[in-house]
Amino acid sequence: MLQKTSQFMKQANLINGEWVQADSGQTIDVTNPATGLKIGTVPKAGKAETRRAIEAAQQAFLSFRKTSALERSKLLRKLHDAIMDNQDALAELLTLEQGKSLTESKGEIGSSAAYVLWFAEEARRAYGDVVPSPWTDRRVLVTREPVGVIAAITPWNFPSSMLSRKLGPALAAGCTAVVKPASQTPYSGLAWGALCEEVGIPRGVVNIVTGSAGEIGDEICANPLVKKITFTGSTEVGKMLIQKSASTVKKVSMELGGNAPFLVFDDADLDRAVQGAIAAKYRNSGQTCVCTNRFFVQAGIHDKFVEKLAEASKALKVGSGLDAGVQQGPLIDVKAVEKVEEFIADAKAKGGKVVSGGKRHALGGSFFEPTVISGATTDMMFMKEEIFGPLAPVFKFDTEEEAVALANDTEFGLACYFYTGDLGRAFRVMEGLKYGMVGVNEGIITTPEAPFGGVKESGLGREGGHQGLDDYLDTKYVCIGGLGL
Ligand code: ADP
Repeated sequence: MLQKTSQFMKQANLINGEWVQADSGQTIDVTNPATGLKIGTVPKAGKAETRRAIEAAQQAFLSFRKTSALERSKLLRKLHDAIMDNQDALAELLTLEQGKSLTESKGEIGSSAAYVLWFAEEARRAYGDVVPSPWTDRRVLVTREPVGVIAAITPWNFPSSMLSRKLGPALAAGCTAVVKPASQTPYSGLAWGALCEEVGIPRGVVNIVTGSAGEIGDEICANPLVKKITFTGSTEVGKMLIQKSASTVKKVSMELGGNAPFLVFDDADLDRAVQGAIAAKYRNSGQTCVCTNRFFVQAGIHDKFVEKLAEASKALKVGSGLDAGVQQGPLIDVKAVEKVEEFIADAKAKGGKVVSGGKRHALGGSFFEPTVISGATTDMMFMKEEIFGPLAPVFKFDTEEEAVALANDTEFGLACYFYTGDLGRAFRVMEGLKYGMVGVNEGIITTPEAPFGGVKESGLGREGGHQGLDDYLDTKYVCIGGLGL
């Protein structure tokens, strides 16, 4: 049972300002991945509850859309402060349900607050245009208005910060929201409801439902009151949501899967590359869509890189996220462990060599050893599929052209990384990579000031940056005639 409680652990849904249970009274159990023990329950809501949440959001929109940008900016700043004032409690709750280390959880809560602050600032800069008119007696105005009710569906790997990137711009723009957190990690999402209440965000502006993903998703897609869906999760579910929401022509933002390559050239700073590799691979136990999926290392530096990467990965402290000094927590569940084992077995069968790790951790449960495999080849599963676990496959290459071609040989295009000391190469490779985000001599690049998002099947739209507000605003052109000028 729960060892540490938090005032933010809400075991109910927030609909129109009321904390409620599912109509059926049914619940879903939430477990701590580090112990396998039940933490608590959340309501198993379905279509009817979702419809009420959407209707409440629509009702709230009628007045929230009329608030001034300055008012919304102030609300968001209060929300930022409330998040930071409660950073420790929110981080503990996050670790409890998700497993990541407390250090990473604090980082995620800090990042959530940072996104909210960014959008508090951006709220006041949703500029339109006054365009030089081609007519002497008419004027041309372009304004931007909130789209209306938005629905946000979020994943379990960053249950707080993925929501901050959606609620931040939604509230900044004057939209209202229905949120569906992932069933594995619902409390970090529900905590946003408590925070919004605390800072005085009006009832019905933020509604949160947990439960049957299919039922909630279907209602969101079919309900014409929902004007936009913002989703972070698998490419498979993302494609389905695009298809289903076509019937009501909704705006969609999709942050989907990645297959990040990490290129290390002979002229790279080796230690810096290894440090970046560890961060870009093992953060959140490898369970992020921007985690490196494939390392491509040039022949001249390859052996040393593999040796140092293996050493550094062996040194990572694995354990319960709540324990001091732990760097890698458990995977989300045993299914995720089995998937990593499948990748390793496939690689071994095709000639890959396990250099370090390679098996379940002695701690049992869903803990897994940080693993490095050398001799990776393009017929191995991880060339095409997202690993989502602490496994680093290393491919060897000879030429720059070959490396860029290998890196681009995927339907995904989210994040990529490369290390080089040559400025010309830095530009050539940066321009050659078909990705939405590129880290040059950096393994962690996410920040609210920059647009996060992918190309190809990795998604649509951007979160963060000034671009992050665009998807929550409709553009309206107004022609004012008969001015008699
Ligand atoms: P992951 O592999 O990260 O669990 P998913 O795409 O399955 O990725 O989950 C991301 C989010 O999408 C979660 O909140 C999940 O509950 C939700 N989801 C899963 N299936 C559906 C669906 N059919 N309709 C709407 N949301 C869904």
